[in-house]
Amino acid sequence: MKKLIIAIDGPSGVGKSTLSKVLAHELGYLNLDTGAMYRTVALAASRRSIDASDHDALRLLCDEIVIEFSIKGGKDCVLLNNEDVSAEIRTPEISLLTAAVAACSEVRQAMVARQRELGNAGGVVLEGRDIGTVVFPDADIKFFLKASAGVRGRRRFLELQANGADVELARTIAEVEARDEADINRATSPLRQAEDALVIDTTNLDIPQVLERMFETVKDFFCEQGEGSR
Ligand code: C5P
Repeated sequence: MKKLIIAIDGPSGVGKSTLSKVLAHELGYLNLDTGAMYRTVALAASRRSIDASDHDALRLLCDEIVIEFSIKGGKDCVLLNNEDVSAEIRTPEISLLTAAVAACSEVRQAMVARQRELGNAGGVVLEGRDIGTVVFPDADIKFFLKASAGVRGRRRFLELQANGADVELARTIAEVEARDEADINRATSPLRQAEDALVIDTTNLDIPQVLERMFETVKDFFCEQGEGSR
């Protein structure tokens, strides 16, 4: 059976991470969280006090650091030069810095090259902002997820709270809106929906309902392929 490249794009807090993890797991595919890669660059930049506007320093940083994905205790984790930084890259400060670092075209070039290297052979679910438009415009299946900023902010708030973070709902919603603004308005690879993407509005859907639609789409893809090859 053909090993697909599946793209899941959309703004923050829309459910991409959870959905792509389950989808990849059920299909026996690799799950590539591209946001975690940009977050890791932002963390590395922050540790070295590199400003997000210093593109030369960011380019050198990308050449130097090694970002890898691994599984520890049954959980996906992200490694920066062999150090597990999975928790550290998720703080609100790093989230905001990431949107600025991800606007740097040198950083994007380096990350996109790595993502293509990891996903080229297929059998992969990639989640991000520009997978269906830039990284793999010829992906076999493209999903674009959306939901209102209020709903996404609330989901993020509950997630952070469950992890023991001291957060406020209004502030979390404002942060989600600020990241949307940065992701949509940046010059390089802004967040936008690919014309041939299947759009799913998750505002009133829970995870199992969205997953059902995704699995149906994958099933339909294989059925159509089977019919086409007859
Ligand atoms: O998906 P996540 O919220 O972890 O992504 C963090 C940030 O990384 C986003 O706000 C966005 O600025 C950036 N990003 C990106 N392109 C991607 C994935 C994430 O610019 N493909």
